[in-house]
Amino acid sequence: MAAGSDRAAPRRLLGRLRVVMAEAETPQARFSAIVRIVAAELAAEVCSIYVMRPGEILELFATEGLRQDAVHRTRLRVGEGIVGTVAASGQALNLPDAQNHPAFAYRAETGEEAFASMLAVPVLRGGQVLGVIAVQNRDVRLYHEDEAEALETLAMLLAELVVGLSRSGGSEQGERPRALNVTLPRVFEGVGLTPGIVLGPVLCHGARPAQATVLADDPARERDRLEAAIAEMHAGLDALVTKGIGRGSASAETRDVLEAYRLIAADAGWLARIRDSVIAGLTAEAAVERELGELRARMRRVSDAYLRERLADLEDAGGRLLDHLAGRVQAEGAAPGFILLARRLGPAELLDYHARGLAGLLLEEGSPTAHATIIARALEVPLLAGGRGAVDAAEAGEAAVLDAEEGRLILRPDSEIVYGYEAAISARAVRRAVLAESALLPPLTRDGVRISVMMNAGLLADVGHLAGSGADGIGLFRTEIAWLARGGLPDAEAEEQFYARVVEGAAGRPVLFRTIDLGGDKLLPGFPHGEEENPALGWRSLRIGLDRPAMLRRQLRALLRAAAGARTLRVMFPMVTTVEEFRAAKAMLRAETASLRRAGRAPEHVLAGAMLEVPALVWQMPALLDEADFLSIGSNDLTQFLFAADRGNARVAGRYDFLSAPMLDLLAHVAALCRAASVPVSLCGEAASRPLEALAVLGVGIRSVSMPAGAVPAVKAMVRSLDLSAFSRFLAGLRRSAAGGHSLRTEIAAWARDHGITL
Ligand code: PEP
Ligand code: MG
Repeated sequence: MAAGSDRAAPRRLLGRLRVVMAEAETPQARFSAIVRIVAAELAAEVCSIYVMRPGEILELFATEGLRQDAVHRTRLRVGEGIVGTVAASGQALNLPDAQNHPAFAYRAETGEEAFASMLAVPVLRGGQVLGVIAVQNRDVRLYHEDEAEALETLAMLLAELVVGLSRSGGSEQGERPRALNVTLPRVFEGVGLTPGIVLGPVLCHGARPAQATVLADDPARERDRLEAAIAEMHAGLDALVTKGIGRGSASAETRDVLEAYRLIAADAGWLARIRDSVIAGLTAEAAVERELGELRARMRRVSDAYLRERLADLEDAGGRLLDHLAGRVQAEGAAPGFILLARRLGPAELLDYHARGLAGLLLEEGSPTAHATIIARALEVPLLAGGRGAVDAAEAGEAAVLDAEEGRLILRPDSEIVYGYEAAISARAVRRAVLAESALLPPLTRDGVRISVMMNAGLLADVGHLAGSGADGIGLFRTEIAWLARGGLPDAEAEEQFYARVVEGAAGRPVLFRTIDLGGDKLLPGFPHGEEENPALGWRSLRIGLDRPAMLRRQLRALLRAAAGARTLRVMFPMVTTVEEFRAAKAMLRAETASLRRAGRAPEHVLAGAMLEVPALVWQMPALLDEADFLSIGSNDLTQFLFAADRGNARVAGRYDFLSAPMLDLLAHVAALCRAASVPVSLCGEAASRPLEALAVLGVGIRSVSMPAGAVPAVKAMVRSLDLSAFSRFLAGLRRSAAGGHSLRTEIAAWARDHGITL
């Protein structure tokens, strides 16, 4: 019978292996015994072990069921055949009909044509692929989950043996197995989520030394060790949530995030699975590693952003458990100023790393709304999302440049690159110091035009930067950020208090509150977002608000109450696509205002604005301008929809330029119509944060821009160095002469340079 339904199989398998490991005299004898036992325990007709050899070649090291004369003869390149594919991806494959899989590579010497199904699992250690173990059967069958788990456990044991081979100077064949490794400089592209440039040694998150032993000598002692480590982990998290908050940087949202994380870490399911593995005979470390391996595999399969974040939090907690087992402290040994490379990171670990001198962060699976991103932004740690493969390619201590401005990580940079970046970093420091001095001066152009320079915000921590940033107000308050950080819908009272604190923090400066902008990549736990083929074009933003009027009205009430009194409340609706949508949203605002006014709890003035993010709205401008009190251009979404290029996709990010005629002509058209109708218009997407882009925005006639607080001083300096009428004339001529949609960046930058613009 197959081990598929036999819950005792892992324990029996490990018990038999323990005996073999003790008895077999040579590594080859151990490999041969393992394949025999695994084949018998999993009722497989074939079990084979492939080991990585120099030159990224996988060599058949032992087999039960294939021809013995193929051992040490059959070799596959990484990426070749099913085994090579598993080695290249680091992921298991469970194939009922392997021979019809596109990657199948036939090797006559093995005699494997008789076997239809195949389960192949990578042998991993410290994120590096050392080999592959595979079982095969004649009949077409999908291997049971328990069988896959048993083989994965075994792969951990094999990793120790393979490493042992290299330590003992090689196998009988005399060569060291080699992992996939390179030592040349490498560049990884990503998207900068928090700006900044850092040069420093890397630290790889999750690259803990692999556990020395897989099988426990004394299971009762292992249980005690595990329970002690679980207790320490909980105590450590409790301390972090209460005491760690006192680092000065932690906001109420950070506390909410940590609270949610603590609950996830205490979830009984994953701890029960680890306890089961220890009972089955694994060491506590191996049991945690095994659970982590499964979590990672699940993460790869899950597309739901919220679930992935929760799994990432669990992975984070598993890492802490391993550290407690080993008596390690997080980031021990890393000198302050390090760049952390991680696939994902939980909020608690990010705070730990920060306390130990984290200078920059790369998250391969980072996203703008992840918990770690929200906290990195509040801590002002430069963050790059993307750069897949960086974690596996790097060794701790290697030098790297993290450039979250241009969106790249350069691993092992050569001296020229280091020199260039050192110069750039010190120039930035000088510039920041100069800018900080002039940040509080008014943003007046040289020809006397007063520009409004505002900042974007979403957390109370951001509002705290308002006075020091020199911004005129908050040009975009993203209300959904707090909901996402909290992990769910706030209750009405908490929401009102939150907005009241924002209004209070702004101390009379204007705040443009944007109503909830969920959907796309901003998924709220417990909210019925549903699966969508193209979420950016789907049920998101105002569309959700109009379909769930009770939710939108509740938010509007909270905003109105929070701003009650002798104030002006500015509310804007995101992603308006038709004027009718805007009218419907505005009617809700009017109705809520009227009812609160009767109760004496409304602000004196209430202004309703529309965000221009969907190109269709450009062709409804006259009607829209009759309705709207103000307009705000969301250049992030507008650019992605205008050019049909996903804003989060690094592959298309550099393909079309904001500084090209299609975009600038559109903005000029909108600005002219707004001016004629006396409706104020501002631009609040990321484009406004880059001085050259902000220059062009002013050049087409827009007089108000909003950006992250950190960008305000540089944009103000640009404004103060500008003769706006001269530049506007130049830009109008340039747009007229541009035939096509190509970039005008070089010409605009050249003009700026020639005219002494501070960029
Ligand atoms: C935008 O799209 O430019 C914008 C400001 O909204 P968000 O980035 O939050 O989608
Ligand atoms: Mg938007």
